[in-house]
Amino acid sequence: MDEIDASDFRHRVKAGFGAAPAGLMRLVYPPVCSGCGIMVGQAAALCSACWSTVRFIERPYCEITGLPFDHDRGEGLVSPEAIAHPPLYARARAAVFHDGVARRIVHGLKYSDRADLAAMMAAWMIRAGRDAVDDSDVIIAVPLHRGRLFARRYNQSAELGRAVAVLSGKPFLPGVMRRVRATRQQVGLGLKARQDNVRGAFSIAPEQGQRLLGLKVLLIDDVLTTGSTVEAATRALLRAGAAQVNVLTFARVASPGEETLYA
Ligand SMILES: [Zn+2]
Repeated sequence: MDEIDASDFRHRVKAGFGAAPAGLMRLVYPPVCSGCGIMVGQAAALCSACWSTVRFIERPYCEITGLPFDHDRGEGLVSPEAIAHPPLYARARAAVFHDGVARRIVHGLKYSDRADLAAMMAAWMIRAGRDAVDDSDVIIAVPLHRGRLFARRYNQSAELGRAVAVLSGKPFLPGVMRRVRATRQQVGLGLKARQDNVRGAFSIAPEQGQRLLGLKVLLIDDVLTTGSTVEAATRALLRAGAAQVNVLTFARVASPGEETLYA
């Protein structure tokens, strides 16, 4: 099973990122496991040991929040939490839980220029969030503030958004939403502090909002923790005229108790 995802999609994604000869690709991206770094047959694949530890998120889960139920309550159900406190977004989906190998993959994308990793992650995301992808018109990624983008040179969410766009055929709209306030790192903040931290952090210029009028947006981020960030971004998108927002992330934190541990 180990190389099934990446190899399937890689040629198409490579074309999207600018095709390079296979030999050159191997030089640039040595074929090592994206989880542990051991040699594997193909770039952006996992060895079978790493693959077996990844916790993929599957139904049954709450059809709105995408969070799996503790007990098997059957499919097509909405959790009591989502009924009591309906989020602004229509649905949230994530490919994997944010731990172990999945966490290392997220880290690898964040701190190294790894377009091949983005392709693998995007393939997993589309498989997990097929309903969200199909029910969306355009793709928008959660933006970084310019200061942080300058320091890192790289917005991992935008790379995921671009890769999801290439694989799904839905248009990616970079630059529509901006982060107008430099927010503190969410790491170590509780739910309330996270909500305060990101409130009003996103803005959409009126002329950009025209491009969203009446459209369903697929909002992309790398990790969903408490949902405060995507909630704030969703608010900005709906205010600008989007008809609906679906959230798709690569990973999500399993339980709110873990929120202080992860970004
Ligand atoms: Zn491995």
